[in-house]
Amino acid sequence: MKPTKTITRLIETAITAQKGAYCPYSRYRVGAAVLTETGRIFSGANVENASYGLSICAERAAIFNSVARGHRALKAVCVVASAAKPCGACRQVMVEFSGKDTELYLVDLNPSTGRKTITRTTVFRMLPAAFDPIASGLLPPNPQNLLRARQGSRRRRTAARRKR
Ligand code: ZN
Repeated sequence: MKPTKTITRLIETAITAQKGAYCPYSRYRVGAAVLTETGRIFSGANVENASYGLSICAERAAIFNSVARGHRALKAVCVVASAAKPCGACRQVMVEFSGKDTELYLVDLNPSTGRKTITRTTVFRMLPAAFDPIASGLLPPNPQNLLRARQGSRRRRTAARRKR
């Protein structure tokens, strides 16, 4: 599989983000990057704490960074680590801002050789029975509500409708 130019940029951004990991306790460095529906890329790294439970994964750091800047709908997510696989908590957070086709790139980067293996899957394939805010009654039973929450502004929604 040859990744597109944008996906290559997404992967490179996650690799760069991995260098910013703060992980003196686990020494397990993780980098992540997300590509939004608006075409922006945001990154994050794992940040640990002496009180271990306060640590945050790279994936959530990247997603919160994106969402806090108003870019909620994710087109692709990339995780870089040695044996990269998002934890369950991060998968659920990804689902919140993903569509059925949101891609997930797992980049297994060997730190000593620099060799990387890229696996492409989707967010929903990685968490097939995710907690569903509509089924649970937390959002009214209209899929548009979740879509709106993911897409953010009305302007972007209108643009998306016009494309169809
Ligand atoms: Zn995680």
